[in-house]
Amino acid sequence: MIFKSKIPDIDIPTTGIYQFVTNNPNKVPDDKVMFFDGTTDKKLTFGELKRNTKTFAAGLIDKFNFKRGDVLAIVSPNDVDYPVVIFGAIAAGGKVTLVNPLFTVNEFEYQFSDSNSSIIVVHPNILPAVKEAAQRLKIPKSHILLFGDKEIDGFQPFSTSLISNNEEEFKPIEYTFEEAKSTTAYLCYSSGTTGKQKGVETTHTNMVSNIIQIHSFETILDSDSKLMGVLPFFHIYGLSVLIHYVLHLGATTVVLPRFDLSTFCRLIQEHKINYAHIVPPIVLLLVKSPIVKDYDISSLQMVVVAAAPLSKELTIKFHESTKIPIKQGYGLTETSPVVTLGNDNVMVPGSAGELVPNMEAKLISTDKKELGYNEPGELCVRGPNVMKGYLNNEEMTKISFDKDGFYLTGDVVFVDEQENFFVIDRVKELIKYKGFQVAPAELEAILIDHPVVSDAAVIGVEFEENTTEYPVAYVVLQEGNEKTPQLASEIQEYVRERVAPHKKLRGGVHFIDKIPKSVSGKILRKNLRESAKIQFSES
Ligand code: AMP
Repeated sequence: MIFKSKIPDIDIPTTGIYQFVTNNPNKVPDDKVMFFDGTTDKKLTFGELKRNTKTFAAGLIDKFNFKRGDVLAIVSPNDVDYPVVIFGAIAAGGKVTLVNPLFTVNEFEYQFSDSNSSIIVVHPNILPAVKEAAQRLKIPKSHILLFGDKEIDGFQPFSTSLISNNEEEFKPIEYTFEEAKSTTAYLCYSSGTTGKQKGVETTHTNMVSNIIQIHSFETILDSDSKLMGVLPFFHIYGLSVLIHYVLHLGATTVVLPRFDLSTFCRLIQEHKINYAHIVPPIVLLLVKSPIVKDYDISSLQMVVVAAAPLSKELTIKFHESTKIPIKQGYGLTETSPVVTLGNDNVMVPGSAGELVPNMEAKLISTDKKELGYNEPGELCVRGPNVMKGYLNNEEMTKISFDKDGFYLTGDVVFVDEQENFFVIDRVKELIKYKGFQVAPAELEAILIDHPVVSDAAVIGVEFEENTTEYPVAYVVLQEGNEKTPQLASEIQEYVRERVAPHKKLRGGVHFIDKIPKSVSGKILRKNLRESAKIQFSES
């Protein structure tokens, strides 16, 4: 059966994302502060956003010959100027790729090269690694610009180097509906159901649609709202709810560049933040940590948890201890991102919510039969928020959709008779550490490069009261090597040096005689996950 939202379909706005986020339906004034850095008091008003966006866009075109379809990469923790850089590139007709600032040089090089980035805007703290990656790709020094207002070693701040003479006349590029539907605005990276990280082609209409879709569930947010800006802007979840949606509402995001619990609670108290989007490990901290009692966080009217599963038990504990309403959302980079969202009026602990409008879903068994209520199967979805495809990867794009245009999520879901969705497992390889993607294929390739390793498989195992997974490696040694704890630590360290912190093998390196594989050579991850469950429950 095909599931549909209880909410009737909504007309999708026909503009590009920049026009959509600046059309100001709530008529907020230009001096309204929309992004406020809670740690430095730096701010960005609506008027500044529009003005600086135009200056930057005009400068990109005039001084860098930035053309329609060119790609600009952003490498920064959350910053009040992040939206200006995004929309500068978008208003100039370009695409934006958002990069995790904690990546290593190799990881930067991969994303810059794969996305064909021609301009990079980077936070000064990350300049050395980005500079090295850019040098390897022969991206000229002049095409690397900085956040902030200081020149460093000849690298110019994006704000001062781009004052253009024709900013007044500059008109952001506009799209027809057909163009908005087919033009890529963002390239966020996701491993999808298998393999390494791929650029997800998210169109203008994908992004616009999802804001309209989530807005139909909204009963709290308006232009007076203050949102906690802790989710990373480089992840599509943060991009969508903390930048796009906040601008559309005319609300304010209190920006937090790096999570720590005291600052998180202090900012809620100081700014009377009423809405927080968080991930399950933060829920656990809010329930467990004594620090929370030192602050008044009662201004929160809603906590939305997504990016990884939140158990029924933890949902109830959180609600009992804080009295704050809590709901879940579920989505993927490939769906821009939200697919299901909790209903503000009915709390269903453990459920990821109900389908947002304009979204169709079906559940498929392993033998490809369509399932009904209470029958778990792989969730497949169709709607205006589903990506165009994977960048330069026709093969993966093809296998990710079925013949009717449904995207195969790789998540195992069941739907109860009230049409609440429950995400209970994954059939895809993906591991999620604190909401961040870890692609096993990437870690396996690094492990196999180690001189003593002959084969390897990486799986995720749940830790921290099931609020997150840790990547665990199973390794087969080359003949003649002894399976010692020292060698296991050495291999763990070898990986740590080569990856961003969230990909570390936190669950350890374990030796095994043979990696279980199917006749076609595919790693039987399910078998490994089952033995890991026993192994980790014993230890
Ligand atoms: P990403 O593309 O990084 O947003 O990761 C998408 C994946 O995160 C999904 O395919 C799910 O496996 C997982 N995910 C997101 N939200 C939830 C949720 N509420 N419950 C369970 N898993 C989730």
